Amino acid sequence: MTTDSVKLCRFGAHRVIEPPGALPQGAWRLDATPVVQANELLCDVEALNIDSASFTQICEACDGDAKAIGEHILATVRERGKQHNAVTGSGGMFVGRVREIGAQLRGHVDVRPGDRIASLVSLTLTPLHIEEVLAIDPATARVQVRGTAVLFESAAWARLPQDFDDRVALAVLDVAGAPAQVQRLCKPSQSVVVIGAAGKSGILACAQAKGCVGPSGRVIGVVHAAASSGAKLLRESDYVDELVESDARDALALFDAVSAVLPGGADVVINCVNVAGTEAGTILCAKEGGIIYFFSMATSFTAAALSAEGLGKDVTMIVGTGFVPGHAQLALDTVRAHPAISEHFHHIYGRQS
Ligand code: NAP
Repeated sequence: MTTDSVKLCRFGAHRVIEPPGALPQGAWRLDATPVVQANELLCDVEALNIDSASFTQICEACDGDAKAIGEHILATVRERGKQHNAVTGSGGMFVGRVREIGAQLRGHVDVRPGDRIASLVSLTLTPLHIEEVLAIDPATARVQVRGTAVLFESAAWARLPQDFDDRVALAVLDVAGAPAQVQRLCKPSQSVVVIGAAGKSGILACAQAKGCVGPSGRVIGVVHAAASSGAKLLRESDYVDELVESDARDALALFDAVSAVLPGGADVVINCVNVAGTEAGTILCAKEGGIIYFFSMATSFTAAALSAEGLGKDVTMIVGTGFVPGHAQLALDTVRAHPAISEHFHHIYGRQS
C-alpha cells in the first residue's frame, strides 16, 4: 500500500482487498501492511483478546492444543489480514502501543505515540499483521503476539486505565457493551434474567441490572455450572436474587428452571453465553412484550427470528452491538464499584492467574 495511490475512506474501505468496494468488517481480505495512512493510527500489538464464542470454537477445532490454536490464529490473520473467525463470524480486540499517527489525525486525536491503548472495535474489521505468536492462555482467551494493527479514523479505542492490571482491563473492555446496554434497558422494579451469568459479561450484566431494577426488582442469573467460581461469586453477592443452574441449549429445561422462580417470564432477558443454540430457550424466558438482548456472538439471527415466530412470542430482540457511547468507562466503573467483582476478575484474568 503506497500513500499516494490510495483514496482514503474514514471507515477503512481503502484497506479492503477483497471484494473491492466492501467495508472492512464484511470484507474477506484486508491489506494489513504496517505503513500508516493519513487517516489511521498504526499500533504495535502486544496481545489479542479473542472473542469468547470464537475462542471456544477455535479450541474445539484444535482439541485445546495451545500450539495448534496459535497456528490457527496465525493462518487466519495471514489469509485475511484480520482475525475474523469464519465459523462464528466474530473477532475480539487488541491491546498495544500507538506507534504512528497519520498526518490528518495529528492534533485531532487525544493520543500520542507510545501511549498504550485497547481497541474498542472488532478484530473482524481491524487490519492485523502478526509476526509471531508468543503465548496462548486458553483459560482467558488471551493471545500474546508481536505484530501491528491499524485503527481507522472512525474506530473507537480506550487508553488503558492506570488503576487496573492490563489483562483485567482488557477482559473488562472486551465486554463493555453488555453492562452499558443493560443500563439502557433495565428499569426500576423490573425482572431480569441473565443467561451465562457467571462469565465476564454475565457478571457485569447482573451487577448493573440489580443496580437498575433496585430492591423491588428481581435479577435471575442462569449459570451452566453452579460450582464455577463465577457462580460462587454471584451466590455470595447481592447482584442476583436467584441463581438457576441450567443448560441454555436445552430450551424446555431452561424454561422450566426459570419459570419455577419467575412464572410468566422476565421483562428483560440478557444472553451472555459463548455457545450456539440458545436462542429458543432465551426467548422462552421473556414475558409477552419483553425485551431480549442477545449479547452473545454465537447468536443466529435466523434461529432467533424463526424461534420467536414459531413460539408465537411477541418480543423485542436487540442485536448485541458492542458499542454504546461511554461504555468503556461504565464497564470499568462497574468493576471499581464492586470490590468482589474486581477481586474475581483479578483472580481469573490478572497477573496472579
Ligand atoms: P465468558 O466469560 O466465556 O462467559 C460465557 C458464559 O457462558 C460462561 O459462564 C459459560 O459457563 C456460559 N455458558 C456456556 N455454555 C452454556 C450453556 N450451555 N448454558 C448456560 N451457560 C453457558 O464469555 P464473555 O466474554 O462474557 O462473552 C459472552 C458472549 O458475548 C460470547 O458469545 C462472546 O462472543 C460475546 N461477546 C459479544 C460482544 C459484543 O459486542 N456483542 C463483545 C464481546 C463478547 P461455563 O463456563 O460454566 O460453561
